[in-house]
Parts: sequence; structure tokens; C-alpha cells
Amino acid sequence: MSKSILKLWINGQYTESRGSRLGDVTNPALGTVIRQVPLACREDVERAIAVAKAAFPLWRDTPPLRRSRTLNKFRELLELHRPELARLASEEHGKTLEDAAGSVQRGIEVVEFAVGAPHLLKGEHAENVGRGVDCHSMLQPIGVCAGITPFNFPAMVPMWMFPIAIACGNTFILKPSEKVPSCSLRIAEFLKEAGLPDGVFNVVPGDKEAVDTLLTHPDVRAVSFVGSTPIAKYIYETAAHHGKRVQALGGAKNHAVVLPDAELDFTADAIMGAAYGSAGERCMAISVVVAVGNVADPLLAKLKERAEKLVIGAGDHKGVDMGPVISAPHRDKIMGYINSGVEQGAKLVTDGRGIKVAGYENGFFVGPTLFDKVTSEMTIYREEIFGPVLIVVRVNSLDEAIKLINNNAYANGTAIFTGSGAQARRFQNEIEVGMVGINVPIPVPMAFFSFGGWKSSLFGDLHMHGMEGIKFYTRTKAVTTRWPEVAERSASSLTMPTLG
Ligand code: NAD
Repeated sequence: MSKSILKLWINGQYTESRGSRLGDVTNPALGTVIRQVPLACREDVERAIAVAKAAFPLWRDTPPLRRSRTLNKFRELLELHRPELARLASEEHGKTLEDAAGSVQRGIEVVEFAVGAPHLLKGEHAENVGRGVDCHSMLQPIGVCAGITPFNFPAMVPMWMFPIAIACGNTFILKPSEKVPSCSLRIAEFLKEAGLPDGVFNVVPGDKEAVDTLLTHPDVRAVSFVGSTPIAKYIYETAAHHGKRVQALGGAKNHAVVLPDAELDFTADAIMGAAYGSAGERCMAISVVVAVGNVADPLLAKLKERAEKLVIGAGDHKGVDMGPVISAPHRDKIMGYINSGVEQGAKLVTDGRGIKVAGYENGFFVGPTLFDKVTSEMTIYREEIFGPVLIVVRVNSLDEAIKLINNNAYANGTAIFTGSGAQARRFQNEIEVGMVGINVPIPVPMAFFSFGGWKSSLFGDLHMHGMEGIKFYTRTKAVTTRWPEVAERSASSLTMPTLG
């Protein structure tokens, strides 16, 4: 049976690609191709950019309150169709339906934040900055913005970007991951139904060709990216070289420090969800436990017991805790990391290799894997695995834990589990990481705060959503005003004007 072929979304409608390349979209639990997606060519992307540029003046001049009403209608549609988006995300990514629904909800929360645009876009005003002189600042949209997103959050990560860009009066081109394109296309339909003018939001699934067109085209003013560190660095450097503002979020290696005074059952439960939820394919997944002092042995026993009870299967089956990983090559890469951990001398406590799921023999499954006695020289410590592999590093003190984390190249999220306010306070102050949890394993900030890491986890200056998102998608203009009375007018002066 021939597979359905998706289309591009340009100018408010589905459009055929002018290129001929197609990508396969796979159901990772079944291991079979379920549909295909056009890989947008340069000409397709140029068309989307031209359409977005043409739609910009009208949308820019639409009052923020009207933009906000459109987004509010869009939010209602998202809520209505949340199960459908969750099903699409689960089908193409493999995560459980419940997990997918939670991630769609986190995306909806960004739309709720963006609906506040009329308030958020107010500038500042100061009367009498000089005698008879006033000054005010305005936040103006920047034009055509582009978003390039990863496979692991098919609905949520795009919604970190475009609701705010659009609320600010920009037009947007989304290049979703070619592995999970369906949510983005469905979202485009909801935006149209909500009344968004054609051309304001466009979707061009594709690969490097589409991305490079966005990065180099003079009419694209800003690029938001989420994905792996090497590509984030490439996006940052290329787009900046072409004069664009860029925020490029990269990979992660998130540590959870556990102090001896932590409540151990609570901590072990929290770490389970953070390490193995979404098969470890979350940029905020905990992949390293830093066990301080004598907490290591009892903690490890609890982690092992819980990991071995997890139910592995297809994401749409009730009672399943963890689904497959995204693809066969990614599964093989994770297996390679597990092998390297064994070869380099880490102690394999729970082995996720060789797992079989009845009825899903071709699925891309990796079982929960737990390593103890990992050192900072080992490959499984240094590199992002992005799979259900949790490693434990043993240290003697909080000092040592902080030093270990601060020496790691990644700095997306981290957490500490402790009963001591003083230790936690010291940790939050000294740790060089963008997002910190205190007895919270996945400290993803709510939409009205900003999301982003430090060091190799983010290239650029501004984080996503929250007020940093508003800053990213606007530029500030300061206006100084004077209305002199005739009697006040004086002769021209060539000296630097000073006020007051
Ligand atoms: P990826 O870097 O392979 O792909 C991300 C996007 O870049 C996709 O749209 C892809 O089509 C495009 N791309 C891939 N190779 C490219 C190339 N050579 N040139 C131009 N574009 C290219 O990432 P992924 O595998 O889709 O997602 C997993 C990664 O994303 C992990 O490293 C994870 O940590 C990271 N991630 C980070 C965050 C965060 O907030 N920091 C959030 C989610 C995922």
C-alpha cells in the first residue's frame, strides 16, 4: 500500500514541494514507515520567505489586542485538539500518550503567556527627561522569523517560539524536524481556523537544504533553534554571519546531586521519571546522578529496584512507562554507548540491551540502563547519550559535586536533592547552569519565565519564552520628543546636546 505524502504549508494552505526529495516518517514502536514528508528545497523555502515578508506589514500594523484575540482562539483550538496532537506526537516520536499530552500542555502555556502581548509590548515612558522634553521607548517587531526544531518535542518546542514571535507582530517560518512533521502542520491548520491571516505562519519540513536557505536569506531577520550542540553552534555562527539575531539551544548532560540528608524514596521516584521518561530523549532529562558520600549504596538499590519494574512498550498502550527511541540508528548509537561504558570499566547495574517487546519485534526499544562507578573521563559521562541510560558518579562532598558539574561542557539543567536549605542555597548560587531544581528533578521554567541553558547548551544571548522571548522577537526604539513654544526656540548649536 502506498504511504500518504504530507505537504508544505505556505500562505495559509497545503502546497506541493517543487523539489523531489522525500523523507520517511516512522512509527518507532512498530519500526515501520507510516507516511512521507517532502524535504523542502531552496525554491520552496524562498517562496515561504517571500510570502512571510509580504504578510508582515499588515500583521505588524494589526493592534496587539487583535493579535492576542487570534492567539486566544488558537489556544481554545489547541485545548480542544490536545488529544489529537498528543496522539500524533506519540505516533511519530514513540513517547507515551500521557507524556505527549503533558508536553502539548506545556506548549499551550506559552500561548497563554503570548496572549498577554498588549501588556507585554508596552514600552517605557519618562516625562521631563530634560526641560520640556519627554522620552518613550517602543517594542517593534523585527520581520520574518524562522524556527528550526528537534524531533523530541514535536508540538511543545515549536510553541516555545512562534506564539511569541506572532504575538509581537512578526511573521514566522517553521522548519520542524523531518522525523516528526505532523504536529506542526496540524497546528498551522488551527492557526488558520483561529483567524490568523495567510502567510503569517508557514511550515516547511525539510533538512539541511531548507535550514541553510533560512540561515542565509537576507529577508529572514531572526533564527530560533533547538537541537543538538554541533548543529546549534553551526546555526549560531552561520546565521550571525548573515546578520541575523540568533538563539540556538543545544544538547545537555543534566546532573542531579543527591546529598545524604535527602528523602530517598521521594528522590528515587523523582529521578526515575526524569531519567527514563520519554526514553531519556528530553533535553532536561537527568542523565547523571552525583551521589554524595554514603548516600550512594542505598540510593542505587532504590534506583535499580525501580528501573527494573518499568514497563516498556508502545507509547499508545495503557500502563506503559517508557516507549521506544526515535530510530534504529539512534538505538544502535545508544547501544554503542552502553558497550563503551562496560569496556571503560563502569559497573553495569541494569542492562537495557537485548530487550524484546512482544508484538513489536521491529521497534526501536532500549531498556532502562543503570551504571554505577562512572568517572568523568568515560565517554558515557562526557557525551550526551539521549536515551534511557542513567549513570551514577560517586563523590565525597557537595564541593566536589559542584566542581564536577561546573567542569562539564553542557549546562542546561541540574537539580539537587537535600533537606538542607543552606546547602541548596549554596548550590543554586555557585552552580554554572541555566536552570536549577531544588528537590525538583526537571526544572523546566513555566512559560512566564524563560527557558535556556548556559555554555554549550545555548549559543546566543536570550533564552526562549518569558520576557526574554519578547525581547528576542522585538527591537527597541527610543523616541525623544520636544514641542517648543515659539519663545523658547533658540539658535542652532553645534555642541553635544545635554538635557536638564
Ligand atoms: P538535531 O540537531 O539533529 O536536529 C535539530 C534540527 O536541525 C532538525 O530540524 C534538523 O532537521 C536540523 N538539522 C540536523 N542536521 C542539520 C545540519 N547538518 N544542518 C542544518 N540543519 C540540520 O537534533 P535532534 O536529534 O532532532 O534533537 C535532539 C537534540 O536536541 C538533543 O541533543 C537534545 O538535547 C536537543 N534538545 C535541546 C533542547 C534544549 O532546550 N536545549 C530541547 C530539545 C532538544
